[in-house]
Amino acid sequence: MPRKKTLKLREGTTVKEFSELIGLKFSDVIKKFMELGYMPTINQPVDTDAALLVAESFGIKLELASVEDETVVEEIKDDTSFLKHRAPVVTIMGHVDHGKTSLLDAIRETKVTETEAGGITQHIGAYKINLHGKDIVFLDTPGHEAFTAMRARGAKITDIVVLVVAADDGVMPQTVEAINHAKAAAVPIIVAVNKIDKPDANPAKVKSELAEHGIISEEWGGHDIFVEVSAKKRMGIEHLLEMILLQAEMMELKANFDKEAKGTVVEAKLDKGRGPVATLLVQNGTLKVGDALLSGVHVGKVRALIDDIGKRIQVAGPSTPVEVIGFSEVPSAGDTFVVVEDEKRARQIALTRFQKHRSLEIAKAKKLTLDELYTKIQEGQIRELNIIIKGDVQGSVEAIKDAFENITHPEVKVRVIHTSVGGINESDVMLATASNAIIIGFSVRPETKALQTAEKEGVDIRLYNVIYEAIEDVKKALEGMLAPTLKEKVLGRAEVRQLFPVSRLGTIAGAYVIDGYMSRACDGIRVLRDNVVAYEGKLATLKRFKDDVKEVQTGYECGILIENFNDIKVGDILENYIIEKIASKL
Ligand code: GDP
Ligand code: MG
Repeated sequence: MPRKKTLKLREGTTVKEFSELIGLKFSDVIKKFMELGYMPTINQPVDTDAALLVAESFGIKLELASVEDETVVEEIKDDTSFLKHRAPVVTIMGHVDHGKTSLLDAIRETKVTETEAGGITQHIGAYKINLHGKDIVFLDTPGHEAFTAMRARGAKITDIVVLVVAADDGVMPQTVEAINHAKAAAVPIIVAVNKIDKPDANPAKVKSELAEHGIISEEWGGHDIFVEVSAKKRMGIEHLLEMILLQAEMMELKANFDKEAKGTVVEAKLDKGRGPVATLLVQNGTLKVGDALLSGVHVGKVRALIDDIGKRIQVAGPSTPVEVIGFSEVPSAGDTFVVVEDEKRARQIALTRFQKHRSLEIAKAKKLTLDELYTKIQEGQIRELNIIIKGDVQGSVEAIKDAFENITHPEVKVRVIHTSVGGINESDVMLATASNAIIIGFSVRPETKALQTAEKEGVDIRLYNVIYEAIEDVKKALEGMLAPTLKEKVLGRAEVRQLFPVSRLGTIAGAYVIDGYMSRACDGIRVLRDNVVAYEGKLATLKRFKDDVKEVQTGYECGILIENFNDIKVGDILENYIIEKIASKL
């Protein structure tokens, strides 16, 4: 008779534990596994997929529970009286040269070294300061790249973003990027208007420019906190810290101090003398020396805990950055970590995860694509379509943005989460991964690294040269009418290193293949200048020395002539592609 109860299968359960869990004889269970083609030994962790099938064949419903989930479940059950205030975790973001590093230094110097004799501060990627008896943690990895890379991995470690804007420079492209990244993560922003010591500082201009991006100061009727500072002259630093504490108070940040620790890997490296060293941010619970650690597929036992000023400590509570020695390999920054009951169990779970790694990689690659949009809408999986727009000029970016925002659909809201002028870079792809967005490029191209990341993460990048086509495609996708697409496949890229004008033919580009290959049989070739398409046409000849050839691979030089195009320049990137027909998935 089938039983109705749903049992929880913990990660890393051995076959023996599994048969006990479902209450059946070990020999019967093993037999079923073997029928399915698995040969597990008694103390080996079960393959979870196989275990689900085996249980089902006995009429038992199983649910998978990852270690991280287990702790989440406990948290809900946690009596809220166990929860205590924890310190806010802050990331500093902003445009290059606006003073992120200087501000981090200013804060550290005014608040950390003054209390430490000798002022030895050890760099561990994060530090804690104290103001009026209250702590604030600063992540010392400024820049939205790190921030979004972490979020793309599912880690949410920042409570507050401090947006640094130089008062003599105003809102710049990376300021806007930072705003959009913080908004996409729903993290509150505190604006630090920096460099107010400068004679040409114009804080009012910063305020009005930020207002255009929806960041409105309280004195202008908004809700955003602005603080004027000078990182160089150490002015306004304490006020900024007070505002961070105020914001934190409103957020009522809490954690349970009395349980096994859980958190995120902030940085990790292999140290010559000490082996794998990781900076962890404890987010819940308390980490202790001797604890068994699990992070992704890596395990460890805490041999030593070192705090942000280089002092050995025995325990680290919530919102504490701490350096940990004791991992057997280097874990990945951005991964979560959990403390489990012992090293044996940590190893069991790590092994299961490692075996699953491949299927997880495939699952990870299943990001949203325009082709699948309609199916997902039908299945009720999609309520919002997030879009990132990159274009060659501000005008076309604005036009596409307006057009997208005017698309109405009964079930789906179209949201443009980021726009900017220029080629598609890795940061755009990371933002798309973190927000499950698609990227629309108008007369621009992805950088090679962005293309590789997009492929790895499964991010859909759509490139257009006609605004109307971009809008039509999104509309059609929403209606499930997207025609079988002709998809372009880039074969390779070559960098122009030399020019050879040949009177009769035109200019032959002496180029070096930097990735993939160049093919005589390509359907088209384009000339990229700073990732913007300067020309698109047909390849006329492909040569190695004096000979015509079919293909030239990465790492080799070649001569390329493009039909009807002679305005080529040294430094241009030549990209050749073929057009493949992809059957519509609808
Ligand atoms: P980051 O690129 O955002 O990390 O910027 P940095 O902290 O490296 O600062 C860039 C430049 O601006 C450096 O030359 C700093 O000395 C200068 N700077 C930073 N803060 C201030 C400030 O408050 N006033 C003045 N006058 N210069 C500053
Ligand atoms: Mg810097």
